[in-house]
Amino acid sequence: MKQWILWLVGVWLVVGWGTAVSPTALAQANDLTSRAEVTFGQGITFYLTGPISSTVEQVELFLVVGDSPTPFTAKATMMPGEPGQLSASYHLEREMVTLPPFAEVRYWWVISTAGGQTTQVPEASITYRDDRFAWRTLAVEDVTVYWTGNDETLGQTAWDIVQGSRQTLDAILPPTAVSPLNVYIYPSTGDLRAGLRLAGQDVVDGHTDPDLGVLLVTAVNPVTAAAELRQSIPHALTHLRLHQLEPTAVLPYWYEEGIALLSAGLDAARDELVATAVANNETLPLLQLCTNFPQEPDQADLALAQSVSLLRTIQAQFGDQALRQLGSIYLSGTSCEVGLTQTLDMSLVDLEVTWLDAQAPQPAWLTFLTENGLWLLLVVGSFGLLALILRR
Ligand SMILES: [Zn+2]
Repeated sequence: MKQWILWLVGVWLVVGWGTAVSPTALAQANDLTSRAEVTFGQGITFYLTGPISSTVEQVELFLVVGDSPTPFTAKATMMPGEPGQLSASYHLEREMVTLPPFAEVRYWWVISTAGGQTTQVPEASITYRDDRFAWRTLAVEDVTVYWTGNDETLGQTAWDIVQGSRQTLDAILPPTAVSPLNVYIYPSTGDLRAGLRLAGQDVVDGHTDPDLGVLLVTAVNPVTAAAELRQSIPHALTHLRLHQLEPTAVLPYWYEEGIALLSAGLDAARDELVATAVANNETLPLLQLCTNFPQEPDQADLALAQSVSLLRTIQAQFGDQALRQLGSIYLSGTSCEVGLTQTLDMSLVDLEVTWLDAQAPQPAWLTFLTENGLWLLLVVGSFGLLALILRR
């Protein structure tokens, strides 16, 4: 009898303490299937299905968008079905929470069964991504590339460009990394804009919101796709990294766009623009790049070309270190002009003179020598040899 009482007390303790998550309930939770379906622009539908032996009184859905501090909670709808089978769902409308395009959504369920037991179903996650395309994917290390179309190699091309851009940016920006990194390559700018608009956003001044945390680029023409991506990936990654370093910073426009263009490498058309402006004495004063970036398209193009050219002069004369310092100083909120003097110990006027000197076309004889140096050397050499032979 005594043993019976002890056994009963034991059972009571186990059941009592195990109310929150009982072993049977836990095993049941693992048998259930939790999944979600995205309808981009509209929302996400969450489903919980599978066998359950207890009587379910309520199913609640918990979800967290991105790194939001508090979860969104909602009561799921239970579908009548076969006995012993649970079928619950919840449709989350886009407007019900702040649901940016390409956001990661973590979700889990809590089931309440008769007798006040609650069980938590293991957490799962889904990306609220544009579902209008059959995305191809390539995931290697911490970089995943999504693209459309028939080119099987485009993902690898983009992946390689990402790695190259990371190296370039490691040298010229304060240290950070956007990791993991998701890259979406849209087949056209129209498709990209339509996607963002469906999700309540848009492309502004040729840029997507860096707060989305993903790279959104386009490859319109299969023949020139690699060249397009070599420009757009480092550019977009620069904005993403600067945003990650200090999300609230408002950087001097010439610095931010200049460094994004610098990361994408040389651009002959832009160099030509600067050369023409220098030759015609029509360059924009550096102070204007700091304070009042032109709106008029031609002037804005020149301002961008001058910005990247200025950064290249700073890089050539003071090294990558100076570019990193300039970045740190601007990210800390220092003004355009003070940032320049603190980093380079030069006034704006001094810097302008240095920059203009670096742009000055080389004298005609130097150009001739650089272009024809080898031939000249050969000709002079042959004459010398001839002279030596003739002497004998
Ligand atoms: Zn930009």
